[in-house]
Amino acid sequence: MPKFIVPIDVITVHVVPVLAPTPEAAQAEAERIVASDRKTWFDHTEPLCVGDAYTEAEWDAQSKGNTSAAQFHAPRIDYHRDDTICPPEHQHAANAIPLTRGCTGRAYSEAKCSCGDWSVKYLGWRHAEKARLQHLRTAH
Ligand SMILES: [Zn+2]
Ligand SMILES: [Zn+2]
Repeated sequence: MPKFIVPIDVITVHVVPVLAPTPEAAQAEAERIVASDRKTWFDHTEPLCVGDAYTEAEWDAQSKGNTSAAQFHAPRIDYHRDDTICPPEHQHAANAIPLTRGCTGRAYSEAKCSCGDWSVKYLGWRHAEKARLQHLRTAH
């Protein structure tokens, strides 16, 4: 069975190596592993953002040809409707209902890369998350 590497992210990327017959199966398996032992991986109540599955060779090729990428950061920042920041400590249920007192929920999310060349704004935090992962893995 081939081994795949799957990045899974809520706030920071966790790299999950899994054995699976296909990239799709690898994504599902990595999500299952993280979801079933979530306390270890994240102290969070949010749905997981599962990245694309890479073979070890693909992963190595990307990270080798891309040593400078590790120096860039593209943090995602979530905002309430009134443009105040919804910090990572604010917990949200899987259906997006805010669980923290005073939190009105995440109205939109932005991500900006330290390369100075890239930023996005999305209504859905998962879209911002995917875009940011994609940028960090491919752009530099
Ligand atoms: Zn909030
Ligand atoms: Zn960048």
